[in-house]
Amino acid sequence: MKNYYVMTLFPELIDNVVRESISGRAIQSGFMSVQAFNIRDYTKDSHNHVDDYPYGGGAGMLMQVQPVVDCYRHIVNTIGHRPGRVLFMSPQGKTFDQKMAEELSKEEDILFLCGHYEGIDERALEILEVEHVSIGDYILTGGELPALSMIDSISRLVHGVLNKDESHEIESFSDGLLEYPQYTRPENFEDHTVPKILLSGDHKKVDEWRHQMSLERTKERRPDLYEKYVAENPEEFAPKKSKRKRHRKPADQSELPSGNPEI
Ligand code: SAH
Repeated sequence: MKNYYVMTLFPELIDNVVRESISGRAIQSGFMSVQAFNIRDYTKDSHNHVDDYPYGGGAGMLMQVQPVVDCYRHIVNTIGHRPGRVLFMSPQGKTFDQKMAEELSKEEDILFLCGHYEGIDERALEILEVEHVSIGDYILTGGELPALSMIDSISRLVHGVLNKDESHEIESFSDGLLEYPQYTRPENFEDHTVPKILLSGDHKKVDEWRHQMSLERTKERRPDLYEKYVAENPEEFAPKKSKRKRHRKPADQSELPSGNPEI
């Protein structure tokens, strides 16, 4: 059982998303829980304010330290310990990726702190001893979408959350390559047909074809990942080095060479 806690000014945003689809099913089945805490509930301000102008001037409002710290202490007291990871959604953080998702999927409890407005009073971040995590080099209006993206991606790696038809073992990034193209019925749609090899029943050939496709599209779409893959798997590329030739896309995909790819 994995427990995710989210500190936010917009708890409905979190609740409404996680109760749908796969995460909703995982919560119903008891594989995980997601609890959103409204930081506003902890303010001691008589007008329920949670934000104020930044000292020293500048645009926008900042979330105040007191409600954030009290909300955090309430969570720690309720669950009886500090969550294994306390993550502040922040464009200044380390960028979230599949590797981090895998690492976080092993944690029992994770706390996500979502900022809003211009961010949060620095003292709150120091007192909570947060880890800064970003979902990419762009600025959003709040940390809720980043927290939801992370929960979504982490939870699908948690045992029991995906059923075996939704396995995550072979998919983009899992082996350093992007996933191969996939097809489902019908076999022919407006003369767009499914590659013949997938209908052949020859699992070895299908696997080889898929690997080849993964290599090709990774090279084309993510040359950075492709270079890394080549560097990390020299044995796959070394033997054919002398015969290296310009890659030509065969007209019939079932004619793709098997064995070591010549990309
Ligand atoms: N002034 C801040 C940005 C504030 S954006 C700065 O320059 O660092 C408001 C809130 O949205 C942030 O506190 C953070 O919680 C969230 N946020 C915005 N962009 C994000 C991103 N790329 N990754 C994670 N969280 C982000």
